[in-house]
Amino acid sequence: MNAEIIAVGSELLLGQITNTNARFISGHLAEIGINVYYHTVVGDNPERLKDSIAIAESRADVIIFSGGLGPTKDDLTKQTIANHLGTTLSMDDAAMTSIAAYFDRVGRPMTENNKKQALVLEGSDVLVNDNGMAPGMMYQNGDHLYMLLPGPPHELEPMFQFEAKPKLVRMLNQENIILSHVLRFYGIGEAELEDRLQDILDQQTNPTIAPLASAGEVTLRITAKTDTTDEAWKLIEGAKEQILERVGDYLYGYDDDSLASKAIDLLKQQGKTISAAESLTAGLFQSELASVSGASAVLSGGVVTYNEQMKVQQLGIAPEFFDKHSVVSKETAVAMATAALEKFGTDIAVSLTGAAGPDAHGEEPVGTVWIGIASAQGAETYRLELSGLRNTNRIRAVKLALHYLIR
Ligand code: ATP
Ligand code: MG
Repeated sequence: MNAEIIAVGSELLLGQITNTNARFISGHLAEIGINVYYHTVVGDNPERLKDSIAIAESRADVIIFSGGLGPTKDDLTKQTIANHLGTTLSMDDAAMTSIAAYFDRVGRPMTENNKKQALVLEGSDVLVNDNGMAPGMMYQNGDHLYMLLPGPPHELEPMFQFEAKPKLVRMLNQENIILSHVLRFYGIGEAELEDRLQDILDQQTNPTIAPLASAGEVTLRITAKTDTTDEAWKLIEGAKEQILERVGDYLYGYDDDSLASKAIDLLKQQGKTISAAESLTAGLFQSELASVSGASAVLSGGVVTYNEQMKVQQLGIAPEFFDKHSVVSKETAVAMATAALEKFGTDIAVSLTGAAGPDAHGEEPVGTVWIGIASAQGAETYRLELSGLRNTNRIRAVKLALHYLIR
């Protein structure tokens, strides 16, 4: 089964918004083993939308539409699909009730054009919209499944993930069980990982193995399709074993794990607390830890000391210290981490200082980062040479600091 996503909206073509809906849907389809071969973007124009539908029908089984379900004149997705398929739209009572309830809640009268939102393709399976008015729908016609989703991401995302995706999985499972498992690696580049696994990757058809790299991390998604869950897990375990034999040293977690969640787990296990003094990353490190639920059990707090004066004022580093040492140096990383350890009374304190770019800092070139990790045993430091891209460097530095913590 393969899918095509048609994002409808002139604002996408004008460059006013990014097509995050296609990215979101594609990510979820990949998880359940549905291949996406094409993304189409088309403006709010019925003729061109019709053409796009005809093209999609020639090359996809599932056609997923995003946008154009609202009450305004430019919202023409449903009407155009109905015309194209020669079907009609009919009022959905449940949708009508929920739209009326919405207007009651906000205390506004419902206008006539809002009723239009309760019109659905006759005979379709209606997807409830818990975050807006326009319902989504799934409509089977011959060999094609048409799925219509509202444009606003806060409506589309939950509707797709929690309503439509389980329905797709159920449909697929009538033929097959599809299971996938993600292996997460750090400290190895995508190219090297692929190189080491080349023959395994080339041979795999079931399960399939899909690599993905982002911000210094590499993941492998292993997806198996078979008749039973046991059989699917067997296939996955077989591939996993082969992979880990070669690159297991770089594995840090599975599925929904992140470097931050692993760091929190480890600190919890050890019964340790952590704090941070951040310069380059200005709170990003603490924010990443805090994104994990339960972080408060280990994360005490920290400071952002972006300029020299704050390093003196907030961390108690002597002003003369900076006559001798650059703010981007091993000595500064040690001084910041050690001061945070004392100030916050934690078992571990992390410091991050660096030249994020585009301008160099003292003698150190752009992309130089020093990370300090202090504990009662003293302070370890790590020097990184990153690229010239400011915000990539800041994110990389956070991930590397987390990586050093869990190593
Ligand atoms: P509404 O009832 O809000 O009009 P709709 O289903 O008619 O919803 P559109 O009018 O096409 O959807 O888009 C509404 C808003 O949703 C857009 O202004 C934009 O902010 C967002 N949006 C639409 N399509 C996309 C997309 N492909 N990716 C990300 N955001 C999108
Ligand atoms: Mg609209």
